[in-house]
Amino acid sequence: MTYHIPFNKPYLSGKEMHYIEDAVSSGKISGNGKYTQLCQTFLKERYGFGKCLLTTSCTDALEMAALLLNIAPGDEIIMPSYTFVSTANAFVLRGAKIIFCDSRQDHPGMNELILESLITSRTKAIVVVHYAGVATDMDIVMELANRHHLFVIEDAAQAIHSYYTGKDGNPRALGTIGHLAAFSFHETKNIISGEGGMLAINDKTFYDRAEVLWEKGTNRSAFFRGEVDKYGWVDIGSSFLPSDIIAAFLWAQLENLEGIQAKRKMIWDSYYFELSNWASAKGLDLPFTPDFSSNNAHMFYLVCKNLAQRSALIDHLKSQGILAVFHYLSLHKSPFYHAQHDGRALPHTDRFTDCLVRLPLYYELNPAEVITACLKAELPG
Ligand SMILES: *Cc1c(COP(=O)(O)O)cnc(C)c1O
Repeated sequence: MTYHIPFNKPYLSGKEMHYIEDAVSSGKISGNGKYTQLCQTFLKERYGFGKCLLTTSCTDALEMAALLLNIAPGDEIIMPSYTFVSTANAFVLRGAKIIFCDSRQDHPGMNELILESLITSRTKAIVVVHYAGVATDMDIVMELANRHHLFVIEDAAQAIHSYYTGKDGNPRALGTIGHLAAFSFHETKNIISGEGGMLAINDKTFYDRAEVLWEKGTNRSAFFRGEVDKYGWVDIGSSFLPSDIIAAFLWAQLENLEGIQAKRKMIWDSYYFELSNWASAKGLDLPFTPDFSSNNAHMFYLVCKNLAQRSALIDHLKSQGILAVFHYLSLHKSPFYHAQHDGRALPHTDRFTDCLVRLPLYYELNPAEVITACLKAELPG
């Protein structure tokens, strides 16, 4: 089946090949080169992260986070069940037990109000997922974490250019609030490099060790800055850093960050306004953005009344050549992890698993045709 409106289409600013050629002709295309530095410095200054390290994926950034926190068998990590497998896998790889938290009733993000009931003496960290770039209520999360001496990791894979405004009234970029945060530049995200990611480190005590884990357990970065006179094996680690060719591509995207965001927001807004009467008449929910969060237009989703209604909508759009897709399957019910789940029902997670559908959203999209197709869909009640 071919779709004349695909679900996603990677956006190119036009300068990607130019910067890649520049990187290649400079003769330095391994990691931590000129473009890596440009991207890391730009992102740190633009959003106010403590320190930034590009990685080959958000998955890698999450795995670095688990290593930095010395996660070990017996540790418990609290996270939503409605998320991508990597959020959990990074910690399961270290032997941790995952304690899944239900979604909010009005949003797929974690229900902050039940978090405290999941904390035990074995809890080591809370991983929040800012689903669709919409913030989890970080004042609640950070207050709990401080009181119980827990680490907070933000899975900000979808959350670039989005903000949280808490009790102090100051908007803070997502990814600057937890001790660590992981971003993705996968081709389905707002800012892309094919595969790619970043670890943002806000807790200074992790700065030096993060760089060592990133560089295969060596102090190579300090050596190249002239801080040590030889480099060697000083810790565990892996090869988490991307080639400078990837960073060169990413730099072309970052240069166009404001334009990309403005365009996505325009498309998101037309979906929201053009579909709102239809959705309420048919009993579908539009995306909800709490007052404490901004909207980075990462995703436009609808929550149908039930599975049958969602299937009918997806099939109808398919018949019009438009690809709309559902999203995560509850991790607490997954073939890999369900036997280890403690048996609590997570009804809101299951509802989003069955009822949420994402509409196409990419830079070049003209949403009018998708809107018209939705309005014409015959849906069961
Ligand atoms: C995309 C995504 C990831 C994985 O990102 P990669 O860069 O593909 O590893 C992890 N968590 C969430 C919430 C995501 O949306």
